[in-house]
Amino acid sequence: MELYSTNNPHLRVTFREAVFQGLPPDNGLFMPVYLPRMPQAFIEQLYCLDFEEIAFQLTMTLVGDEIPEKSLRTILHQTLTFPAPVVQLNDKTGILELFHGPSLAFKDFGARFMAQVMAYFQQDASDELIILVATSGDTGGAVAAGFYQTPGIRVVILYPSGKVSPLQEKQLTALEHNITAVEIEGTFDDCQALVKKAFLDKQLRQKLRLSSANSINIARLLPQIFYYWEAYKQVQHLKQPIVFSVPSGNFGNLTAGLIAQQMGLPAHHFIAATNVNDTVPVYLKCGHFEPKPSVRTISNAMDVGNPSNFARMLRLYGSTWNIMRSYVSGFAFTDAQTRACMKETFEKYQYMLDPHTAIGYLGWKTYQEQTSSSAFGIVLGTAHPAKFQQTVEEILQCPIPLPPALKQLLDRPKHAIQMPANYSTFRKWLLDFGEKR
Ligand SMILES: *Cc1c(COP(=O)(O)O)cnc(C)c1O
Repeated sequence: MELYSTNNPHLRVTFREAVFQGLPPDNGLFMPVYLPRMPQAFIEQLYCLDFEEIAFQLTMTLVGDEIPEKSLRTILHQTLTFPAPVVQLNDKTGILELFHGPSLAFKDFGARFMAQVMAYFQQDASDELIILVATSGDTGGAVAAGFYQTPGIRVVILYPSGKVSPLQEKQLTALEHNITAVEIEGTFDDCQALVKKAFLDKQLRQKLRLSSANSINIARLLPQIFYYWEAYKQVQHLKQPIVFSVPSGNFGNLTAGLIAQQMGLPAHHFIAATNVNDTVPVYLKCGHFEPKPSVRTISNAMDVGNPSNFARMLRLYGSTWNIMRSYVSGFAFTDAQTRACMKETFEKYQYMLDPHTAIGYLGWKTYQEQTSSSAFGIVLGTAHPAKFQQTVEEILQCPIPLPPALKQLLDRPKHAIQMPANYSTFRKWLLDFGEKR
C-alpha cells in the first residue's frame, strides 16, 4: 500500500511508515494513492461472509503484502471482538450500532485496529514503543481500551484534572497494566502542549521511541471502511437503494464511507449530519470552506469547527465542489432539534438515541423529506446512550442502565500520576518512565 500526503502528491510512504508517522511532515494527511475496486464476486457473495472475512478481504486488497495473511487474520480477530448490527427502526430506517465495544463508541474499531497493527509492525523492534496521547476525555478511553495489554507498547495518557466525567476518568485510570494515566493540573490545551513539546524534543526522542495515536492516523480510518460493507450485507435483501447518514465532527467516519463507495460499495448517497458546527454542510451548500471556532453542544464529540478529514474528502473528488455534492448532502441541527428527535424516537419506537446518533437520524429524515427519497436509510449509531447517561436521562426522563462492563470499571480504583502543567517535570518523569520496564 502506497500513501501520499494531501499537501504533496509526490511524498510517498508505505503503510508501516504512515502508521508510525501519523502525520506527514508537511502537516497534510496520508491518503492511499490507489483505491482498488473490490471484484464483483466479492459483492455477490457478501451475504455469506462474516464480518471478519469481509474485513480480511478488504484489508488484503488495500494493504497488500505489507502484512502476511496469517498475521492479518490475527489482527482482525483481535480487533473485531464485538458486532455491528443494523437495528431496524421502521421499514425505511436502520441504525448501524457501532457502540458495542469497550468505550461504547465507534472509535473502538479504529483504536483497536491501530493498536494491533502497531503491535504487529513493532514485534521485531528491540526497543519498546511509547504512545503519547492528550485527551479531553472521549478519545482517551477508546485508545486506552484499544492498546490494553498490547505487547511491546506502553501508553501514556494525559488528561486535565477535574475536567473529564467520572466514567471517562475510570476508563483512563482503572485499567493499569501497560496504560498509564497522567492527571495534569491544567486544561486540555495544557495536556496537548506537553505532548507536542515532547514530540518536538529531539534529545528526548533519541532516548525514547515515541508515537501518537492521533485520530487522523490512517490505521484508524481503514477499519471504519469495514462496517459500511457489513451494514450493506445486512440490508441488501431489501433490494432498495441505500443511503448512509453519518453524524460527523472530524469527518473520519464519513470519509471511510466515501472510500468504501469508491471501492465498489453499492451506496446510493451519503449524508453529512452535524450539530451547529456546520462548516461542511455550509461548504456543500455554497462551495466555501470557512473553518470557525467550535461551539459547545450536547453532541460534544462533534464540536469541531475545522474538520481535519476535509482534506481527504476533497482529494476523493479532485477538489471539485460539484462532484462532491453529487455524492454527499449536508444538514446541520440545533440542540433543541436534537432533544426533540431523541424524545420523539423514544416515544414512537422505544429506542434510545444518544445525541450524536440523533443528529444522524435527523439528517436522514430531512433528506427523505426534501428529496421524497424511497431509499433505505442507514444511520451510523456512533455512541451508546449510556455513554452520555446524564444528558440522555434528562431528556428522556427515564433511567438508562450502564452496561455491566462499565459498571465493573466504575468499581475499580483510580491510578493516576498527578503532575503540574510543566514541561520539565513531565520530561523528567517520562525519561524515568522509559527506563523502567
Ligand atoms: C468522534 C465521534 C463522532 C464524530 O466522528 P468523526 O469521524 O470525527 O466525524 C460522532 N459521534 C461520536 C459519539 C463520536 O465519538
